[in-house]
Amino acid sequence: MDWASIFIHDTTWSFAIEILIRASVMFFLIISFLRFTGKRGVRQLSIFELTIILSLGSIAGDPMFTEDLPIIQAVLIMSTIILLYRLCTWGMVRYQPFENLLEGKALYIVEDGMLVCNKIRKGSMSHDEFFAEMRQQGVEHLGQVRTGLLETDGKFSLLLCPSDNVSYGLPLFPKQCQAVTQIESDKYYACMYCGYVDFISDPDQLCPRCENDCRNWAEALNSKIIR
Ligand SMILES: [Zn+2]
Repeated sequence: MDWASIFIHDTTWSFAIEILIRASVMFFLIISFLRFTGKRGVRQLSIFELTIILSLGSIAGDPMFTEDLPIIQAVLIMSTIILLYRLCTWGMVRYQPFENLLEGKALYIVEDGMLVCNKIRKGSMSHDEFFAEMRQQGVEHLGQVRTGLLETDGKFSLLLCPSDNVSYGLPLFPKQCQAVTQIESDKYYACMYCGYVDFISDPDQLCPRCENDCRNWAEALNSKIIR
């Protein structure tokens, strides 16, 4: 194996200095162009924004070390991308269907303490993901949640029930969220698939709401929200 060819190949001192200059120029160009997007910073990206960042990223890197790639070409490409970005955001503000197309829509995941069935069935997100999000926001069981919305940037927004109005719901922490094998007649149980709460008589009963085949029920909680 030729180590010199892996690490150095045909790099000359003068090209090494050229790389320093190219990288510095591109560094400041990237900062200026990202400022032109008008965004304050990046937390979570929507798919549309991720596209912009990916395109800018690949264009920004190459001219740093590609000998026969003049920086002006990179500037032209980046300007085009930023122009398109600005045009799209302008269009999105004015025309709702266009925004839905590029950014997607916010999705209702929880309504009135139950998971919205068609969303989980379509598999747009897994149980574990919602549950982890809700746990991180201090939610113990679904009965504490009035509405849970999945935003287009992947964040989860929650509206909680007032603490005097908490109903029975599916526990979200693993130790409590376990399928029961025996039923006590005076207790509420929650369907582990959709969060539907009811008195049940058989631990293998089919859930009347989601009619899912998992047929698992966990003991429902109605503890209040403590913040
Ligand atoms: Zn169910």
